[in-house]
Amino acid sequence: MRPPANFCQVCGHSLEDRSVHGRVRRVCPACGFVHFEDPKVAVAAFIEDGGRVLLVRRAFNPERGKWALPAGYVDYGEDPAAAAIREVKEETGLDIAIAGVLGVSGGSGQFGASIVITYTATVLDGVARPADDADAVLWLSPGDALPDIAFTSTRQALAAWQQRGKQHFGADSR
Ligand SMILES: [Zn+2]
Repeated sequence: MRPPANFCQVCGHSLEDRSVHGRVRRVCPACGFVHFEDPKVAVAAFIEDGGRVLLVRRAFNPERGKWALPAGYVDYGEDPAAAAIREVKEETGLDIAIAGVLGVSGGSGQFGASIVITYTATVLDGVARPADDADAVLWLSPGDALPDIAFTSTRQALAAWQQRGKQHFGADSR
């Protein structure tokens, strides 16, 4: 959870709790400004290339040292698909094309984001190298053991993807 807003961003007066528009919100008694606590939106990219999916190891907390999809926050006014493309470029150097939406999850889950949009994507150009929030990259194959994954939603998506891959490749030949 984010800390509550204490001061009015319009006039600087202290805010107080009032019931406004159906729930308790922080309101300025001096100028009437209502501080709406908006959802924080993050995007992640499920990038498939040659039957493998790209993971990055997180260089910072939360979940430092664990593996995740390339991901980050959507800036105010930014198209979420463009944010996914930007984050992948920052963390891996890859240029990607968005293929579709894998899922949208809500709640207070990963990174403290309220809404996470996970896109499927393909590689347009480049060789994956870690940078920015990532300190390693890994192309995971369907038959590989899952490394230590940072977020439950990612673990579930990867497990489903691996299961599909095994069926597709008629597996357990090892
Ligand atoms: Zn005010």
